[in-house]
Amino acid sequence: MKELVILSGKGGTGKTSISAAFAHLAPSRILVDADVDAANLHLVVPHKVFSSEAFSGGILPELDLTLCTDCGTCVGICAFHAIKDTHPPEIDPVYCEGCGICHDFCPAGAIGLKPRISGTWFHSSTAEGPMLHARLGIAEENSGKLVSMLRKRAGELGRQGEYPIILVDGPPGIGCPVIASLTGADLVLMVTEPTLSGRHDMLRLAKLCARMRIPVCLTLNKWDLNPEMAHAMEEEARSRGMEILSSIPFDTEMTKAMAAGRSLTEVSSGPASQALMQLWQEVLSLLEKQQKSSDGGLLIMESLKQETIP
Ligand code: SF4
Ligand code: SF4
Repeated sequence: MKELVILSGKGGTGKTSISAAFAHLAPSRILVDADVDAANLHLVVPHKVFSSEAFSGGILPELDLTLCTDCGTCVGICAFHAIKDTHPPEIDPVYCEGCGICHDFCPAGAIGLKPRISGTWFHSSTAEGPMLHARLGIAEENSGKLVSMLRKRAGELGRQGEYPIILVDGPPGIGCPVIASLTGADLVLMVTEPTLSGRHDMLRLAKLCARMRIPVCLTLNKWDLNPEMAHAMEEEARSRGMEILSSIPFDTEMTKAMAAGRSLTEVSSGPASQALMQLWQEVLSLLEKQQKSSDGGLLIMESLKQETIP
């Protein structure tokens, strides 16, 4: 079983459209929407929710008014100003970071701690296999923990169900949820576009993947909007050890497919759809080339050995 993570460094590059197309093209796979802060893969992948479960990402203090002596200690000690200076005090969960200090320092033992429900995760079925996705609550944190949990469940399902591949639609950026989506993955497909910000984000993400020793391949979405920039970015990526795969041309069919809630490869045979089919074959062929390294555990693709980017 191989795990492919699709990342972009920033939002809006077409990552989810590509993930949806791959989800459609893979005959048997587990799909994970790891963009838990703004999950939208379920909008373009027809599915049926099989089960749902609350996700607890931290702790929340709970005030017992029968014990509280209204001493005000907790108001002054909370560094996040999450306890309102009222009589008795009130805890504002939006500001609370779950540090637990108020619990530790309350002289009356009036503050207990309970699990903080930060969102819901779903196990859905699709025509090509299971899909794991989630919805994080407004102003809730711990998205990295939720991503790790989804990937762990996907791994368990994979071992039970003989699925050859886990497809992960990763979060944007290079922060905690991205690191959680990358750890231990077999291959990253980086989706970028030929713009200055696209180049900047490509280099940031490349640096992160190199540090984590995850092989990276690159595709440029809407490459024909700036062919010179696209070419320069491909050269730069190649010099940093990334494998360059087929690019995707600009195609208005992509937007139409998204608006219709379908993957492009389901509804179009136009140029972008053709390019996606080609890209999927190239990704599969890279995954097939992977071998276990002799030092055990770490999977390294022979053709994708990366230099460490300083
Ligand atoms: S520290 Fe404890 S007793 Fe004092 S106001 Fe806060 S909850 Fe009440
Ligand atoms: S758990 Fe920490 S952040 Fe939350 S109210 Fe208590 S002291 Fe403030």
